[in-house]
Parts: sequence; structure tokens; C-alpha cells
Amino acid sequence: MDLLEAFPSEQACVQYLINVRHNGKMNCPHQDCKCEKVYTFKDGKTFKCAECKKRFSVRVGSIFQDSNIPLKKWFMAIYLITNHKKGISSVQLSKDIGVTQKSAWFMLHRLCHANKTKSFEFQSTVEADEVYIGGSESNKHTKDKFKSEKAVVFGLVNRETKQAKSFVVESANKECLLPKVGCNVKAGSNIITDSYHAYNNLKNNYKHDIIKHSAGEYVRIDARTSVKIHTNTIEGYWGLVKRTINGTYHWVSKKHLQKYLIECDFRYNTKEFETESARFDCFLQNKASKLSYKKLIA
Ligand SMILES: [Zn+2]
Repeated sequence: MDLLEAFPSEQACVQYLINVRHNGKMNCPHQDCKCEKVYTFKDGKTFKCAECKKRFSVRVGSIFQDSNIPLKKWFMAIYLITNHKKGISSVQLSKDIGVTQKSAWFMLHRLCHANKTKSFEFQSTVEADEVYIGGSESNKHTKDKFKSEKAVVFGLVNRETKQAKSFVVESANKECLLPKVGCNVKAGSNIITDSYHAYNNLKNNYKHDIIKHSAGEYVRIDARTSVKIHTNTIEGYWGLVKRTINGTYHWVSKKHLQKYLIECDFRYNTKEFETESARFDCFLQNKASKLSYKKLIA
């Protein structure tokens, strides 16, 4: 209801985009122009640059570019995907906002793509872990096939900032896992993992603490630093990922899994926002790279 009241018309959505993305005033979006004198057409959503005479819409450079779907529907979709704790399927989204399932699927993927967590380096105390995700339930009885359909996902959670990042990796060996740590966690940070052997070499660049689940150990306190050694934070994150993927999407192909993980990261990383509208704004301010339908289905 709040959303409908905030955006009663297409023009209200346009005005909101001008405010949030362009600080209230449209400038010419063309690279070598950036002219500040811009005429507004009668429809209120088309503009023309006084300098280079090019026409453009409020959607230029946004995730809504090249889409004919009304902004009202896009905004509703953003609201639904950012506030449904377990995500939303394209079938459900198409029913909820009244578009075809094909359009809904495209919207979901473009929105997930837009969510790419800004690259930030993790430091201080970081929990790392890997899980197997996906595979068709109907193939469960043919065990080998089920296993080959599963994807290995590696994740990092910073315990202090409660930020998560997850990646689909080729395999669960150290060649695939360790570079992900190297690229995303500051050297010298404190890393906590279970006793999986692929993590053994972390001690070369990090303070590496191991919790031995196989020995029935789940939490221990480091006597020297009094840091709690456990991987419960990332286990909690995997819980969210599995509920999202199994509970909402039922089946996710390996090819598209990374996009769903980005969505899970976004939801987890913004869960502390006090209001739903703060999360909504955060989404739109995220200056997203576009993902064309062509590229998506490639
Ligand atoms: Zn211009």
C-alpha cells in the first residue's frame, strides 16, 4: 500500500528516478556533451539536449533502459524481490505485476545483475566455507547425475560488518577456492574455516583458525585473542541461500546460479536497513550496468 501511494502514476516514478539518480535535474547523458540545458517534452519523461539536440528518456543509463515495461511495474518488482525474504520466482512475479513470464524472468535477471555487490575487501574476522547447491530433485535417485548437476559455491562472511559474498566455483579444490580468498580478503586478516584440507595454505597469508566439526567441535574461544572460533555466521548465510534457492526457485541451472547468489548477497547485506524504503532506494542508486536480453540468454 505504501508503494502504491508513493508511486500512484508513471510520472511519479519518473520524478523519483530524476530525484534519486540525477539529484533532481536531468543533464544530457551523452558522453562528450554533459550539457546542463535540457528541454522537457510535454509527456514529462522525454528530454532533449539544447547542445547536441539528442533526445533521451529518464531511463537512459539505468537498468530500465530499452525496456517497454512501465516503471510502476519495475518498481513493484524491485519492492517484491528486495522484501520477500526468500526471493520470488518469475512465475509468481508475472502473476503479481501482470506481465508475461518471459518478461518477469528478464526483469528478475536484470535486477539481480544490478545487484552485484560493490567490490569491497573483507578484513578483520572472516568466515569462509563451501557448499554444494542445485541439481534437479527428480534426478535425485540417479545419484551420479544429481551430483554432476550440483554446483560448488564458495562464500565469505565478515563477522563484524555482517557482509557476505558468494561465488560459483569450478570445483572445491584449493586452486579454485584460495584465489577467491586472495582477491577478496585483506592479507593478515583472521580467517576461520572448518578442517577441509583445501584451506590448509591459508596460514601463509592469514591468521587461520580451524574449527574441527569432524571432532564434534563447534565453538571454541581463542585463549590469546578471545575471538570465538566458529563458522556459525556463514552457516546462517548458507541457510538463507538454500531457503531462497530450494524454497523459491526449486531448480536453478549452474549457468544462472551466480545471479541468484548476487541476489542472496544483496538481501543479506542490506538486511540491517531499518525500513523497506531504505532498501528500495539503495537498489535504485546502485548505478547498474545493463544486461541485454541477448546477453542474458547467450
Ligand atoms: Zn547533449
